Amino acid sequence: MSTVLERSAAFASRARELTPGGVHSNVRLSAPSIFFERGEGAWLYDVDGRDYVDYLLGQGPNFLGHAPARVNDAVAAEARRGSVFGANHVLENEAGELFLDTVGWAERVRFGVTGTESDQAALRLARAATGRTKFVRFAGTYHGWLDNVLMTMVDGKPAPGSAGQLPHGIAESYVLAFNDAAALEATLAEHDDIAAVIVEPVMFNNGAIPPAEGFLAEVRRLCDAHGVVLIFDEVITGFRVALGGAAERFGVRPDLAVYGKAMAGGWPVSALAGSAELMDLFAGGVVHAGTFNGSVPACAAVIASLRALREDPPYERLEAYGASLMRSIVEIGGDHGLPLRAQGLPMAFHVSFGDPAPVRDYAGLAGLDLDRYAAFSHTLADHGVWVAGRGIWYVSAAHADKELAATLERFAAAAAQAGA
Ligand code: PLP
Repeated sequence: MSTVLERSAAFASRARELTPGGVHSNVRLSAPSIFFERGEGAWLYDVDGRDYVDYLLGQGPNFLGHAPARVNDAVAAEARRGSVFGANHVLENEAGELFLDTVGWAERVRFGVTGTESDQAALRLARAATGRTKFVRFAGTYHGWLDNVLMTMVDGKPAPGSAGQLPHGIAESYVLAFNDAAALEATLAEHDDIAAVIVEPVMFNNGAIPPAEGFLAEVRRLCDAHGVVLIFDEVITGFRVALGGAAERFGVRPDLAVYGKAMAGGWPVSALAGSAELMDLFAGGVVHAGTFNGSVPACAAVIASLRALREDPPYERLEAYGASLMRSIVEIGGDHGLPLRAQGLPMAFHVSFGDPAPVRDYAGLAGLDLDRYAAFSHTLADHGVWVAGRGIWYVSAAHADKELAATLERFAAAAAQAGA
């Protein structure tokens, strides 16, 4: 049972009169009804004067911590000179050069605003390049909320993820189990209408499941063998699991990759990157548009964020912090009789209740008690640790010793309550 915070409760009650469910994204419907007024570094501050160590990071974008001064100062300074021109401006080239140099493998980039739309651009490009219509994806990955990608599994079969979704949307894809290269081989051999394979290189959206040894390389090989475009959805992994994202960390190059979240210090920017051959189709009949693409604040945010990550790479610190936190969560759980488990990478991992053995695919998550964890996430909020109810924990460059100590103390108090 969540603590009732008076001012938050008043805000929440008014919010329900203004917007459906009181939230502007369905993902937030099951979160505690707490209203924040400020974020700084790894901390959030609510309207009732309480503080929280934040591991939601706005669902991932605040990789540099909240309100990073370098990024926000750059955005504010540039915004004084205008924000969106619907025409070229001087920051675009600097942002594009820095982006491509940082990613390492791609030759062209198109900026967008959300991962959802850049994923659609990637799929359209793959269809245009191959003249085929369908794509392969993996159960449990998330590629945005639109009709052809929003999906859930019912009794082991793909089903629309929303009422009102076009029923033929999900028929655009063949849905396979993550980490099952043999199934991909069979599917590509059987069907000649496949334009693309789209994959979250680490399946962070369900269980933070890492790719099995050699899986991504095998996906690459099979795509090459069948003339299929390989799309990495790096919206979570990009700039987070390594400076060059999953492509760098796992040593596999996609044909196209979609980025978002960590690339712009908390500002709404996404990107589609890839080979010149594919990407230049956008200048030859494939449409990709967006009023706010490559806006002045977006470019300023990308430039400042990528410079910050290149000049002071946080990756080693994140590895140490996250590994220690994952270990402690399991240990503290054990101290209080809670079968807590953690898997993933130190900079983003999944916590739930259940058997500690690693889960390899979406079906494996059925053995975990995800509902119990969702309830525990509210207990954590009561004790000043802000996490997603679906289990993912994001660590930022702003998490340091003080935050770790505060987290462990608060986590232990929450575990004592839940285990009592
Ligand atoms: N792809 C992945 C892997 C994501 O995690 C998300 C969002 O969480 C998206 C795409 C969609 O991005 P956005 O919410 O910016 O539309």
